[in-house]
Amino acid sequence: MQTMTRQMAKDIRVIGRFTEVWCAGHRHDGRQPVTVPGSDKPLQLCPECAGFFEYAVLKRQKCPLEAEKPSCKKCRIHCYAPQQRDKVRQIMAWSGRRMLLRGRLDYLWHYFF
Ligand SMILES: [Zn+2]
Repeated sequence: MQTMTRQMAKDIRVIGRFTEVWCAGHRHDGRQPVTVPGSDKPLQLCPECAGFFEYAVLKRQKCPLEAEKPSCKKCRIHCYAPQQRDKVRQIMAWSGRRMLLRGRLDYLWHYFF
């Protein structure tokens, strides 16, 4: 594991949380604890969502724009492959709405796609 910046750890926690809300909300089967890099709280994710989360973590850790990064939404590279980019958009929109309904506004700053 490479060292992570605080921003990186925060971004990873956020995408993880959104993915968890998505996974639980869609009642996916076989949810298991998944380790979150930079956090001691595991997420409950099904194998498919865990795979997606791993991909997101990898992309975030490899981000070449770390220093100048405003947010993934404004990124000029858009490093996600089209399929994952679609998925992250779906997840952020769906989970974002759900968190909004539950008053979880703290998760809804600048974020992602
Ligand atoms: Zn799932």
